[in-house]
Amino acid sequence: MARLSRERVLLLALLAAVIIVWWLAAREIRQELRITILDVGHGDCILVQAPGGRTMLVDAGGRYGQEASSWDVGSQVVVPALMARRVRQIDVLVITHPHEDHIGGVSAVLDALPVGVVLDPMLETDSETYHDLVRQLEEQGIAHWRATEGQRLDLGRGIYASVLNPPEPRLRDTGADLNDNSVVLRLVYGDVSVLLAADIDEAGAYRMAWLGEAVDSTILQVPHHGAPEPAVSEFIDSVAPDLAVISVGYDNPHGHPSDEMLRELDRVGSKIMRTDHDGAITIKIRPPRWRAVGSSPRARGVSGEVTAHAPAGVP
Ligand SMILES: [Zn+2]
Repeated sequence: MARLSRERVLLLALLAAVIIVWWLAAREIRQELRITILDVGHGDCILVQAPGGRTMLVDAGGRYGQEASSWDVGSQVVVPALMARRVRQIDVLVITHPHEDHIGGVSAVLDALPVGVVLDPMLETDSETYHDLVRQLEEQGIAHWRATEGQRLDLGRGIYASVLNPPEPRLRDTGADLNDNSVVLRLVYGDVSVLLAADIDEAGAYRMAWLGEAVDSTILQVPHHGAPEPAVSEFIDSVAPDLAVISVGYDNPHGHPSDEMLRELDRVGSKIMRTDHDGAITIKIRPPRWRAVGSSPRARGVSGEVTAHAPAGVP
C-alpha cells in the first residue's frame, strides 16, 4: 500500500511537471507574432498570426499570366496551408494589387474561410480574375475597403500594420502603375518591424526611400520577387534590413531575384532567405528577438535581436 502511494505521488509529480512545461510553452507561443511567407512559386502569399488570435492574409498567390489555368493555387496550396496552421478565420485579407500572381488564389480562400474585411487599392484594371473577385465579395457580403497610405490596422496586443502605399491620389504614368500602387505594409511589434513591399517598382521604391526612417525595418519582404529596378540602392539603404525574405518561383523564367538585388542586400549586411530554396518561411517574433525558419529540410534558420535605438539627439 505504502509502495503504491509512493508511485502515485511520483506519477502526480510527473504530471504536474508536464503541465507546467506545457503551460510555459503555450505562454511563450501566445506572445509570439508569426509571419509565414508561403511557398506559392511565382507570387506572394503571406500569413500573419498575431498572438491575440487576429489573422491577416496578404495576397493568396496565383499564376503569372495564366488566368485560365485549371491549376488553382488557392485550393491546392493556400487553403491547405491555412488549415494546417489551424487558421479558422481571416480578419483582414489584403489584395496588394490586381495581378494574377497575387490574387489568383483569393477566391478559394473566400470560399473556405470567413473573412472579416478585404483591403484593396481598387486600381483600374481589365483583369477578369479581379472583377470576378469583386462580384464574389458582393455576393458573400464581405466588407471591401479602399487601401490608402496612412491607415493603420490593429492586430491586438500593441501590434499594428501601417499602410505606407499607395498614396492618394494614386501614382500615375509610372510605366508600372499597378505595381507602383501596390499596398505596402509595415508591421510593428515592439522594437521589431517587418516591411511587406508587395510589387513596388521604380516610382514606388523611390517613394518608400524618401520616407527614410519610416521604412527602416528589421525584416524586409523584398519587392517584386527580387526583380531589378533602378531605385534599388536608395530603397535598400532606407530599409536596411537584418533579414530579407524573397518570395520567388524555383527556376523562374524571369530570372528573379536579380544579381543586383542580391548584391544590394549583401552590401547592407542583410541575411537572405528565399522560398525557392527554403520553402515556406516562418518568422517568429517575440521582441526584441526574432527567428526565421524554412520548411525545406536544407533550410538554415536565421535569428536576431533588435537593440534599442538611442533616443534622437543622444550620441
Ligand atoms: Zn508579383
